[in-house]
Amino acid sequence: MELWQEMLRESVDSGKDLVERFGFDKDLADRLNKLFHIRVNPYYLSLIRYPGDPIWLQCIPDEKELEEDDLPEDPLAEDAHSPVPSIVHRYPDRVLFLTTSQCSMYCRFCTRKRKVGDSTKINMKYIQGGIDYVAAHPEVRDVILSGGDPLTLTDFMLERIIAGLRAIPHVEIIRLGTKIPCVLPQRVTPKLTKMLKKYHPLYVNTHFNHPWECTPEAKRACEMLADAGIPVGNQAVLMKGVNDDPDVMLELVRKLLTMRVRPYYLYQADITKGANHFRTPVSVGLDIMDKLRGHTSGLAIPYFVIDAPGGGGKIPLLPQYVLGRNGNQIIMRNYKYDIFTYPDVEEEPKTPTPMVEKRFTRKKSRTKKAYEPDKMQV
Ligand SMILES: *Cc1c(COP(=O)(O)O)cnc(C)c1O
Ligand code: SF4
Repeated sequence: MELWQEMLRESVDSGKDLVERFGFDKDLADRLNKLFHIRVNPYYLSLIRYPGDPIWLQCIPDEKELEEDDLPEDPLAEDAHSPVPSIVHRYPDRVLFLTTSQCSMYCRFCTRKRKVGDSTKINMKYIQGGIDYVAAHPEVRDVILSGGDPLTLTDFMLERIIAGLRAIPHVEIIRLGTKIPCVLPQRVTPKLTKMLKKYHPLYVNTHFNHPWECTPEAKRACEMLADAGIPVGNQAVLMKGVNDDPDVMLELVRKLLTMRVRPYYLYQADITKGANHFRTPVSVGLDIMDKLRGHTSGLAIPYFVIDAPGGGGKIPLLPQYVLGRNGNQIIMRNYKYDIFTYPDVEEEPKTPTPMVEKRFTRKKSRTKKAYEPDKMQV
C-alpha cells in the first residue's frame, strides 16, 4: 500500500471519531454521520489551528448541516443534463466525466453531496459507458475528469480511463478536477506524474480555498505537476468564515502563483442542502474582486462566477467599471476609483446584407431565442 492510501485509512471518518476526538454529543455525531460522509485525513487535520478556524469549517461537520431540509439536493440540475450516469453534458463542446464517488476528504460545502461518497451513484461500471458516450459525440473536444476526486483512483485505473479517452481522435484536451494537491499532496508521486505526462495536452484544476492550505507539501505536489508540463489552475469556493475577506483572498491568490498555480474560478457557494450556511451575499464576492484587480498581478485574478441554479452554467460577475455613457464617451473608473472618459469609435449604421438576413432567420427558428447581435450595446 502506498503512503497516501495508508493516510486515507487513518482518516477521521465516523460519528465515533467525532465523539472521541472532538467531544461531539453522540446523537448529533450519529445524525451528522448519516447525512453526509465524514473523512479528514491526518495531513489535512494537522492544518487545523483552533476549533472553528477556516480549515476546521471545511472538514468538520456542523450542526447547521441538519437545519437545511428544504433546499435542493441537485441545485445545478446535473442529473437532468446527464445522458449516461457518468457524464454531465451541459456545454456544447465539453463534458464532466464522473469517475469515482470517492474523495480524499469530504468537504462540508460540497455541491455534489447527493452523490459523492455513494458508490451506487458514481461507479466503475459506468466508466465504459462514459468513454463510449464521448466516442459517440464528436462535438466533445474537452473532457473533465471529476467525481468525487479522480486522483483517489489508483494509477492503474486512472491510466485506463485517460488512455481510453486519448484514443478518441476528437478529444483535444483532458482536464483533471482534483482536490488532492490541497488535501492529500502525498498522492502526487513521481510515478503518477510520469504516467500523466504521456497523455498531453492535460490540464489540472485544483481546489485551494485558504492560504493556510498552501504548505510546503502542497507546493511540492503542484510543482511536480507543473514540472510534468501540466498547467495547474485553481477553483476556489467563496465561503462565510473561510475566505470571505479580501485580505485572505489576496494572500491566497499570491501564494498560489508562487506554487505555480493560476487562479481560475472563484465560485459563489451553491444553494445546496446541508451547505447553505456557507453562502455569502454576492456583494462580498464583488467587493473581493474589486480589491484584487489592479492591486495585484493580473495573473492572480480568478473569474468570479455563479453556477446558475437549475443548470444554466457558470455566469461571470464583475464589479461595475463602466459608470455610464455620454454620447460616444464611455465613462469608466479604474481600480483606485479615478474616473476616465474613453472616446468610443462611432459605428457606421449598418445596412443588412442578404447574408445577415439569413443568419437571423435561422436564429429565430430556435426554440430558445438567442439575443440578436444588432441589438448589442455597450
Ligand atoms: C464547470 C463545468 C464545465 C467546465 O467549464 P469551463 O468554464 O470550461 O471550465 C463543464 N461542464 C460542466 C457541467 C461544468 O459544471
Ligand atoms: S473534494 Fe470536491 S467532490 Fe469531494 S467532497 Fe470536496 S468538493 Fe465535493
